[in-house]
Amino acid sequence: MSKEELKLLRNRVTELRAEGKYKETIENCYNLIKKAMKLKDYKSLLTAYINLGASYYCIGDIELAFESLSKHSEYCDKYGDEEDILNSSNILALLYEYNKDYVSSKDTLKKAIDLGKKLRKYNIVSNAYSNYAHICMIEENYTEALEMAVIGLEIARLHKPASKILELRVRLNIGKALIGLDDFKNSKHIIDEIINDEILDLFIREKSQVYHLKGCWYSKQKLYKEALESYNVAKTLVESYNDIHLLQIIQEERCKLCDDMGNIDLGYQVQKEYITLLKEINNRELQSMALKLQVKHNMAEMRKKANMDFLTGLYNRSYIEVTANQWLKNDKIICIVFDVDKFKSFNDNYGHLFGDEVIKKVSRTCLNIIKKPDLVGRFGGDEFVILIKGNSKEKAISKAEQLLEGIRNLKIHDGNDVISITISIGISDNIDRIITDFKELFELADRGLYKAKKNGRNQICTYD
Ligand code: GH3
Ligand code: MG
Repeated sequence: MSKEELKLLRNRVTELRAEGKYKETIENCYNLIKKAMKLKDYKSLLTAYINLGASYYCIGDIELAFESLSKHSEYCDKYGDEEDILNSSNILALLYEYNKDYVSSKDTLKKAIDLGKKLRKYNIVSNAYSNYAHICMIEENYTEALEMAVIGLEIARLHKPASKILELRVRLNIGKALIGLDDFKNSKHIIDEIINDEILDLFIREKSQVYHLKGCWYSKQKLYKEALESYNVAKTLVESYNDIHLLQIIQEERCKLCDDMGNIDLGYQVQKEYITLLKEINNRELQSMALKLQVKHNMAEMRKKANMDFLTGLYNRSYIEVTANQWLKNDKIICIVFDVDKFKSFNDNYGHLFGDEVIKKVSRTCLNIIKKPDLVGRFGGDEFVILIKGNSKEKAISKAEQLLEGIRNLKIHDGNDVISITISIGISDNIDRIITDFKELFELADRGLYKAKKNGRNQICTYD
């Protein structure tokens, strides 16, 4: 893959996430990671991990979201610049908030604020102040919330080009903090200002939020009828873009209002709607669970493919090497290497496809004999490796004999021809020698194999 193609993939990942296609984003991110690693393109790697983190967050897999972001920060330390750090801060703060770790969330936002100011990324800074105010309100600290939101508004005004929606979002938090402080005069002023802003019609989410806020304003002053009217508007708006979590909050407030007003008929109606909503939430959670499972399944498939030899379905060379090196740390292993005798002649006499067929048949025979925890892989061409756990040389030799015999008995047909195959086998182990590296172990078995070939093929030679 060229740098140009990598760039396309990087853009695709960003696009997919913007479209809310999280499952596809995740799959493409893993692909991007693999390719970026190969080309040592760390910018792409950072893009992949940040999008992976955000997507996992959106499908509710917080653990994997954290994992991806910590990978992001690991690479950021080595290869990222300050903008990369800044990009991850708002999503990281959300994750902390989700975990109810408000201290870390605020800490992250503070850092984002400092860095964002330095880099003059005023939209990110303003958002960070707004999120900070939001956390203060969860903690019921309305004074600090107000302070933060007011600064957020000043910062939003520094953003070039001017962004009215950026300002409006902070103003929503200012209004909310003022209601928390029972300042009904100023909060009303802000709410009216927002509702009369023509830009609001372009942003349905913010529009629903301001009507929700208006409902809170009335409700807190025990003006139940008016509160209900505002909540009704908010509810219709939220239903149109289907944010079921905000809808849940609004429905809970509507239920409470009916109670406060003693309106039993309406209360019954609202309760019914609420139950339907809860069912939908439950459904969505199941769907999100299914999505998570599917993503995990696809990941497992991809991982499996990365370890597999395409032609035979056996493990590939890299998997065998990595696994052997892991085993060598703690275990005794016996390594069997074998190679088809005169394999080239099959290719020459019957064609390459026939050669492939031979390789597949040999693999199947091998799989019938070698069972877990022992492993078999194709090292390349007509050469195979078997790893046997433990120190029983008798067992290993017996397996090698079965293999020799099994393959000798194979009959492969090509038209009227019946072709027989033999293999040569070399064996080594780390039982008495201090071997910690697979290369060394393989080298010894390969010497055994060479000896077997030299002695006339179709036999086993151990390296001693
Ligand atoms: P020896 O008994 O000494 O092993 O003789 P040989 O003919 O088997 O020699 P060698 O093992 O060196 O030959 C392996 C050949 O396998 C060479 C290469 O053309 C062929 N080969 C490698 N990969 C594949 C493959 O995927 N499919 C097929 N059909 N042939 C392959
Ligand atoms: Mg060979």
